[in-house]
Amino acid sequence: GHDALGLGGGKEITLGVMGGGQLGRMFVHAAQRMGFFTAVLDPDPVSPAGRVSHHHIQTAYTDPEGLARLAAVSFAITTEFENVPAQALNQLAASRPVAPAGSAVAIAQDRAAEKAHFVTCGVPCAPYAVIETPEQLKAVDASLLPGILKTARMGYDGKGQVRVKTSAELAAAWADLKQVPCVLEKMLPLALECSVIVARGADGTCVNLPVQRNLHRDGILAVTEVYEGNLPPALVERAVAAAKSIADGVQYVGVLCVEFFVLEDGSLVVNEMAPRPHNSGHYSMDACDVSQFDLQVRTLAGLPLTQPRQHSPSIMLNLLGDIWPEGGVPPWEKVLALPGTHLHLYGKLKASKGRKMGHLNITGASTHRVRTTALEAARLLG
Ligand code: ADP
Ligand code: MG
Repeated sequence: GHDALGLGGGKEITLGVMGGGQLGRMFVHAAQRMGFFTAVLDPDPVSPAGRVSHHHIQTAYTDPEGLARLAAVSFAITTEFENVPAQALNQLAASRPVAPAGSAVAIAQDRAAEKAHFVTCGVPCAPYAVIETPEQLKAVDASLLPGILKTARMGYDGKGQVRVKTSAELAAAWADLKQVPCVLEKMLPLALECSVIVARGADGTCVNLPVQRNLHRDGILAVTEVYEGNLPPALVERAVAAAKSIADGVQYVGVLCVEFFVLEDGSLVVNEMAPRPHNSGHYSMDACDVSQFDLQVRTLAGLPLTQPRQHSPSIMLNLLGDIWPEGGVPPWEKVLALPGTHLHLYGKLKASKGRKMGHLNITGASTHRVRTTALEAARLLG
């Protein structure tokens, strides 16, 4: 219980996280602000989270000895990436609370299992077929074309995806993907994309951040906009209800992000879920009274959850390595001279194309003000 936690009582209470990327780093910052100590397991000696954590266990994710060390120092353990091996979470769960549970993470790791879960929860997803065998490839219904072939596992930021128009292209694409298990999804006419971040406690309390509207470029999130009037209220209501039922459906504990498509006819279709804080929730760090990382800390430590409140309209611009000039840095001084700009950098030493280096949150007194600043910042950053 919360009293047993004894936060601030002179004891070191450590929260553990599997993975040392930027999401882990921002989790560590949120945990440390509340007085927790932190432990990160990541093989990378210069991982963004490992560098700012009290403990950095630098082993492979599956190393039994490293996992034992993480469990030994941690009060409870979470994850910052969905591809953490299930066996690792299971080993940790044998001796410590782990949230989200390995079983929930396993669903999010596999697009076929994920879609089956959405169907179980009564939330529509894109028409799809699982392709694991040549027979299943041949049996694909022509109505799924044109479509997108996605590897069932390990895809992110648009990686492991091929757009196909014909069954010949589909066969070629599956061969290119080395015939690993895939799902073929029908290409849908998207009007817009949005996502919902929910936090669910062990007692079933479930709160949500305001619904994010997202813009992707080349399969990578580019911009998130959250302000009054950028989504129809009825749609917001449906998306939040769907995200909560997806979390309830697995008795989820932790922070969960559910991505949605809104089609041209106004219908809502679930795309995928991430069992952790999400890039589209970064605006909450500066625009809400409780951020997605605060929520992650609270769910992990068994602390109370209250419904977050957004206190400012907000736009988030992702800062990819692409905008780093050769041997230099983007024009931060000009960007920070704009009102309401909050620069977050992840401490990565090398910029490269498509690499997530940081994000810029923009807040302001009005939507108009925030949009004007975002346009100017985007122009400065090229
Ligand atoms: P990732 O795991 O890489 O984020 P997603 O499945 O979310 O993969 O796909 C990345 C992007 O590709 C989506 O945000 C959307 O813009 C586009 N996309 C994916 N699936 C479809 C689809 N069935 N119809 C139309 N666009 C799609
Ligand atoms: Mg996605």
